[in-house]
Amino acid sequence: WTEERMEALVAAVDQGTSSTRVLVFNAKTAEVISQHQVEIKQSFPKEGWVEEDPEEIMESVRECIEKTCEKLSQLKVDISRVKAVGVTNQRETTLVWDKETGEPLYNAIVWLDLRTQSTVERLIQKAPGQNKNHFKHLTGLPISTYFSAVKLRWLLDNVDDVREAVRSGRAMFGTVDSWIIWNLTGGRSGGVHATDVSNASRTMLFNIHSMEWDPELCRYFDIPMEILPEVRSSSEVYGWMKSGMLAGVPISGCLGDQSAALVGQMCFEEGQAKNTYGTGCFLLRNTGYKPVMSDHGLLTTVAYKLGRHTPCCYALEGSVAIAGAVVQWLKNNMGMVQTSSEIEKLAAEVGTSHGCYFVPAFSGLYAPYWEPSARGIICGLTQFTNKNHLAFAALEAVCFQTREILDAMNQDSGVPLTQLRVDGGMTTNRLLMQLQADILCIPVVRPTMSETTALGAAVAAGAAEGVDVWSLGPGHLPQLKSETFQPQINPEESEFRFSRWKKAVQKAMNWET
Ligand code: ADP
Repeated sequence: WTEERMEALVAAVDQGTSSTRVLVFNAKTAEVISQHQVEIKQSFPKEGWVEEDPEEIMESVRECIEKTCEKLSQLKVDISRVKAVGVTNQRETTLVWDKETGEPLYNAIVWLDLRTQSTVERLIQKAPGQNKNHFKHLTGLPISTYFSAVKLRWLLDNVDDVREAVRSGRAMFGTVDSWIIWNLTGGRSGGVHATDVSNASRTMLFNIHSMEWDPELCRYFDIPMEILPEVRSSSEVYGWMKSGMLAGVPISGCLGDQSAALVGQMCFEEGQAKNTYGTGCFLLRNTGYKPVMSDHGLLTTVAYKLGRHTPCCYALEGSVAIAGAVVQWLKNNMGMVQTSSEIEKLAAEVGTSHGCYFVPAFSGLYAPYWEPSARGIICGLTQFTNKNHLAFAALEAVCFQTREILDAMNQDSGVPLTQLRVDGGMTTNRLLMQLQADILCIPVVRPTMSETTALGAAVAAGAAEGVDVWSLGPGHLPQLKSETFQPQINPEESEFRFSRWKKAVQKAMNWET
């Protein structure tokens, strides 16, 4: 460690579904020196639609950067010690903007949005054998409402301003990372229109073998290739901050949030895995330099490519649409709690669901089922059931969904996972963590520093060529302290509850028939 590297700080912009955060890490210890967070409004203009305002997203990013820097100044920390900025973001969320005015042409269509259900049905009909997995060998993904290509197709079909901007050569498409990087590097006066391989791999327009936009996919979804951003590695200098307190600092890291968490948890070895519990729940297992295709409903995704000349690493991913969102639903729609964290106390008062099972299939079911028509169901109710049991069942649902993904992953890889690293907003809930260890029958390991997603973006930025705050070799990155939750119930009890859960899932899938 040179004097300068010991002093270095790295900033991360973490733009999530429910909030934006900016954190500044100390390069030597990975400690958070300063941070700021702003909530993001989601709007639900129609049933199944989920939108966010792109301007609000940018304002929140700018506000968080400025406030985080002000806090540094208050701590008498010299801002010039910040050597790089990394960006991590909610994936798949789709934006189109006008490169001349800099204005968004529609709200951001959020990953959870279901408006494209009929578009998806039409596209599947068109695919040979009506096979939703027709492009899986190229993209690692099934045709689903989840990925950006169909959201972009919807924008092109339904929004005149988008169509007009494409016709006149003014349209730019991007996921949230591209929108942020373009704006921070100058926007309409010379902003860089780029994305990284991890974000590109979630659009369904990207070939995960050749690592390029795929002309066949673009033709199939009828997407004009000239509106797509340039695809770069996850760790290189994309451009420099144009204004604000960090003006002149390079933006040199870009990773989709789940990839960032994998990096932040230091899962660099093949076979290592982490599960992030936020709005949804995402379990990623590093499969090394080769993409592994799942036979059990998992996605194959680009994990990261940490440098222009470094090979790309892939991951198998199990995505659960509704995790923390079920707690939000109990809070906002049912008024059962005032804050998300109250759910823990409510559930802990009874310590059981009393035979009640809650499948929160609000947006259909993602992995391993990929059933868009599934809907939420609560079953096993008796006269005795009360809100405490429901709260417990909601938390248990998150754990059962993770168990389904883990089972699929173990089958696909043939090597059972022996422990699970976890992170994300929900992991402050200790009851949830214990329940998860009980239901998986393996230890659950939670770093004491909970901001692993932001740390991953910082690592990508700090390790970029020319920044060189970190190097990625073993022993160079800071070690994270963690806490382990050991399974405490007997496996038969766990199996019994899991088998009941599976019955409930079948009812959620077939509730209309
Ligand atoms: P995202 O990155 O998707 O915006 P976060 O990682 O910030 O999500 O986590 C926020 C989610 O976690 C919310 O859905 C919230 O309801 C849930 N959550 C936060 N704290 C708790 C808690 N103590 N118990 C249960 N759920 C929680």
